Amino acid sequence: MVFFCFLVDQKRMVRNSKPAAGICSRCGGCASVADMETATRFCYVPIYRKSWRAIICTFCGALLKSYRHVC
Ligand SMILES: [Zn+2]
Repeated sequence: MVFFCFLVDQKRMVRNSKPAAGICSRCGGCASVADMETATRFCYVPIYRKSWRAIICTFCGALLKSYRHVC
């Protein structure tokens, strides 16, 4: 019997962020526009990277809004 390594995980990183208007619906903290990068890893080897933009809370890190299509 052959066992494959199905260890796939995703790592989310904030590359850049700047203050944005709005507050967090969870904790009331300040929101910020962030350039996010999601790295999909297979057996700890990055196979796919995607950059996207989202509005996150700087206090609790909640994802308030995401923009899937970033030019
Ligand atoms: Zn928050």
